[in-house]
Amino acid sequence: MVLAASGRPLTIPEILGRRHGLAQSSVYRNLVVLEQAGVVRRIVTHDERTRYELAEELTGHHHHLVCSRCGLVEDVPASDDLERSVAAAAARTARSTGFRIDHHRIDLLGICGPCS
Ligand SMILES: [Zn+2]
Ligand SMILES: [Zn+2]
Repeated sequence: MVLAASGRPLTIPEILGRRHGLAQSSVYRNLVVLEQAGVVRRIVTHDERTRYELAEELTGHHHHLVCSRCGLVEDVPASDDLERSVAAAAARTARSTGFRIDHHRIDLLGICGPCS
C-alpha cells in the first residue's frame, strides 16, 4: 500500500504519482472506505490539499510538522518528554472539565527547510 511506505501523509495526486495506473476516482473511493473503516486518517491543514495517512493503530503515535508556505506535512516521532507533559496537561483538563480525553494530535506549524 502506498501510504504504508511513505513516512508522511500524502495527497491524492501524490498517491497517484507513486502508483501508476490507478484511476483518481477509485483511489478516492478506496480512501473513503478505508477512512470509514478506521484504517486511514484524513488530515486537513490550512491549504486546500487533503492528505491521508494510515491510522495510528497501524503506524504508531506521532506528530506532524506542517509548512505554512508549501503545505508540506511530515511525520515526527512523539518524544517521551512531550508525551508526559501532554498527558499531565490532559489529565488536569479532564479533571476540570469532566471531559474524558482519549487521544491528542499535535501539529507543529512553521517553515520547512527548502522554504526557509
Ligand atoms: Zn515548505
Ligand atoms: Zn503525542
